[in-house]
Amino acid sequence: MSFDSESGSQVPTESPARFLRPEVLQSKRYTAGLTIDEIKERYNLQRVVKLASNENPLGASPLVVNRLRERADMVFRYPHSSTPRLAKALAAHLGVAVERLVLGNGSDELIDLLIRVRCRPGGEHGGDEVLACRPCFSMYQLQAKLCGVAFRQVPLEADFSIPWQGLLDTVTERTALIFLTSPDNPTGYTATAAQLEAFARALPEHCLLVVDEAYIDFVRDQAAHSLLSRLADGKELQNVVLLRTFSKLYGLAGLRLGYGVFPAWLADYLWRVRLPFSVNLMAEEAGLAALEDQAFVQASLETTWEGLAYLEQELGLLGCTVWPSQANFLLMTPPAGGPTAQELFEGLLRRGVIVRPLASSGLPDHLRVSVGNPEENRLFLQELATLLAKGSPKA
Ligand SMILES: *Cc1c(COP(=O)(O)O)cnc(C)c1O
Repeated sequence: MSFDSESGSQVPTESPARFLRPEVLQSKRYTAGLTIDEIKERYNLQRVVKLASNENPLGASPLVVNRLRERADMVFRYPHSSTPRLAKALAAHLGVAVERLVLGNGSDELIDLLIRVRCRPGGEHGGDEVLACRPCFSMYQLQAKLCGVAFRQVPLEADFSIPWQGLLDTVTERTALIFLTSPDNPTGYTATAAQLEAFARALPEHCLLVVDEAYIDFVRDQAAHSLLSRLADGKELQNVVLLRTFSKLYGLAGLRLGYGVFPAWLADYLWRVRLPFSVNLMAEEAGLAALEDQAFVQASLETTWEGLAYLEQELGLLGCTVWPSQANFLLMTPPAGGPTAQELFEGLLRRGVIVRPLASSGLPDHLRVSVGNPEENRLFLQELATLLAKGSPKA
């Protein structure tokens, strides 16, 4: 999904909607993919395998599910506005001061908050700017545009690595925030901590570097790829924010729980602006239980790593190109001469396997496939092999 400022619906001149903010008039609804039930009904299928949203193939921890059941009768209470129990548990888990943490309704909320707290709107020709790579996670652009903040992009290098110099060359006195995603979605590319630190130190003082680490939990050597340890051990980088989520490894996507590690001076302002209670009671309980169940975390990691290696190997045997990934998904292109990525996406959908096409991210030849459980991975490969053997429907 992408934001296209040209495609906002035309508002008839007499409509009362014409009084709304122009950014709102130009916006579109977020188009999430079809749900499993919608696909079952549309194609008359019994089983559907969803490998499209990078969810945990083991589901949620049984400890989480039990805790939610136990606490269900508490939902008449308001949650504590600043989620102190979870903030404390997270601070201990990460080894950072609790003053540096802000929790949100998914890390999506923190992306929005950062833009609203830091960026002065002014459209294309004034005000602050947000900078990111192309392609990148759609939320950065959606929220920037909605806030009336200019959004600039620098293309990824041909191997999908980060264009460090290109980004630095694009920074101006208007550049307020730079969003990098590492491991990257959808490419899987992962920067090193040394690269990120050198980049952060090269930025002018007014520029905040936001590293979206939604997938960092899947990286084996985290010290080598995250700035977290460099934020924690006193060598304070005052212009770095790390965003993380319980949606992926912890399997809580449906509860909406994310957090960020901020310089303490900045965290305080985010708490002031954040809607109270945006992390609900059940999400806080679930987050606490999820942190306690490290056995489930370990099992999830092993399932992901084994599945990633298996998919990489089998896709290679089918002639697909697979990009190296440290996340819980991989980026692939089908072999030349056969069905296109879009044809495969549609063929897989009819056969009950949902993967993610990337044309809207400017990668029309690529597909993104989340790692499933062993059975889901096998079904995906089986249906893909059948489609590849049949050749292009248009040929
Ligand atoms: C999944 C994802 C997130 C997490 O979003 P939540 O709002 O926490 O569910 C953030 N950034 C990227 C790049 C993602 O892929």
